[in-house]
Amino acid sequence: MSELFSKQMLIGGRLVESVTGQTLDVINPANEQLVGRVPSGAADDVDRAVQAAAGAQPDWMATDITERAALLRSLAHVLEERQAELTRVEVIDTGNTITKMRGDVAKAVAQIEYFAGIGLELKGETVPSTARHLHLTIREPFGVVGRIVPFNHPLMFAAARMAAPLMAGNTIVIKPAEQSPISSCILGEICADVLPPGVVNIVTGHGETAGDALVRHPAVKRIGFTGSVATGLAIQRAAAETAVKTITLELGGKNPCIVFPDTGVDVAVDAAISGMNFAWQGQSCGSTSRLFVHESQYAAVTAELKKRVEALRVGDPLDESSDMGPINSAAHYEKVLSAVAAGQEDGATLLTGGDRPAGEYFHRGYWIRPTVFVDVKPGMRIFHEEIFGPVLSVVKWSDEEELIGMVNATEYGLTAALWTKDVARALRLSRRIRAGYIWINGVSSHYLGLPFGGVDNSGIGREEGIEELFSYTQAKALTIHT
Ligand code: NAD
Repeated sequence: MSELFSKQMLIGGRLVESVTGQTLDVINPANEQLVGRVPSGAADDVDRAVQAAAGAQPDWMATDITERAALLRSLAHVLEERQAELTRVEVIDTGNTITKMRGDVAKAVAQIEYFAGIGLELKGETVPSTARHLHLTIREPFGVVGRIVPFNHPLMFAAARMAAPLMAGNTIVIKPAEQSPISSCILGEICADVLPPGVVNIVTGHGETAGDALVRHPAVKRIGFTGSVATGLAIQRAAAETAVKTITLELGGKNPCIVFPDTGVDVAVDAAISGMNFAWQGQSCGSTSRLFVHESQYAAVTAELKKRVEALRVGDPLDESSDMGPINSAAHYEKVLSAVAAGQEDGATLLTGGDRPAGEYFHRGYWIRPTVFVDVKPGMRIFHEEIFGPVLSVVKWSDEEELIGMVNATEYGLTAALWTKDVARALRLSRRIRAGYIWINGVSSHYLGLPFGGVDNSGIGREEGIEELFSYTQAKALTIHT
């Protein structure tokens, strides 16, 4: 691809540069070529965006909910029309493979339509507290919402996660990830055409500058964050230095995929591979990056896993036949390589991968072969630290109590997958696993309306269901004296 993108931010309905004039280079992780530039937003840009959002909010809140829904559906419609272009940009910008990335625009559209459809559920209650009066509650928006999103599914997170706050009557300022911001800028261009000025604002830039300024802005009382635990904690601290704020956090995971001996070897290996989300290099919060295999089938599963993982096609993410692309950025690539080194230092056995694929094509870019470690044990860093890369840790287990102990022995609790023909056992264990989202005989899929989110350090709050819509409102109680 030869075009060089030159994109702008969306503030108050206008596409603008940063007040500083500074820009961020956007790099294609497959070949390290420059693909474009976006503004490097500063605190002053964030302030302008928040002022614009605050100025637009009273009118937006006063717009009939059916009209807000119609505007969101128009936005979804344009995203759908521009799916091919957006997907291509996303692949070049993230390195995620094209076949699976087509689903991202579709998922964003489906979620926007879902929230547009349930707007009328933003009901209050009547409360029979006394006989003489009428007591009722209404749901009110917070005002301006700050939304900070990660690099792995930039468009999907930016577009899908604006729907609930907007339906609830808030306006929004979105801060995309600095590594993959171009699709969010295109989203900004679409919003400029479809939505009233100031309702959606998009400020590109670094986390420690633009992100931090958004979190600390006194007019932003509700923050929705998707990203790492370390940043989630930094956001809680920074927010608390400014005001009392409501924060939801969708953070990382070190999720288990547990296969029971009644699961055939092929099914177990399919589960392990699907759960890793190699199509985006394992860079998914929900990836099941710890595979727990019973000792009775450990040898057979690991032998087949090696064959199947080595058969995955690593290559140009724009090529329909690629199963895996490059790691998203130079910095993240180094992080993944150091996790591989940690696995070796801590005594795990490298079954396959861990290095750059052979061939001239892979000389540039952030490439690593899909990687599997076996004989991974509690205490090793690759057992309990999120890598957010194509690195699977295989753990042997022998009895259920030991298994549950190991499964729960991390700071995280996002997803888990259980594979067994014994549904009663699966249900019993599901109740003991610390996770917010569990698949039984399935993995990776999200289902519209089903709340997604983590426990422990994987986060606070639930998204993708009606809870997300409600979470962007506060109840106000009224009593009518009769
Ligand atoms: P990150 O935490 O480094 O960055 C996420 C966003 O936060 C970016 O936009 C970044 O610019 C911004 N940011 C960084 N420092 C900030 C600060 N001090 N103040 C405000 N904003 C700041 O995460 P990442 O590397 O982009 O994404 C990977 C992480 O995201 C992984 O841990 C992954 O598990 C998690 N994630 C979670 C979910 C989920 O739904 N639970 C989904 C996707 C990714």
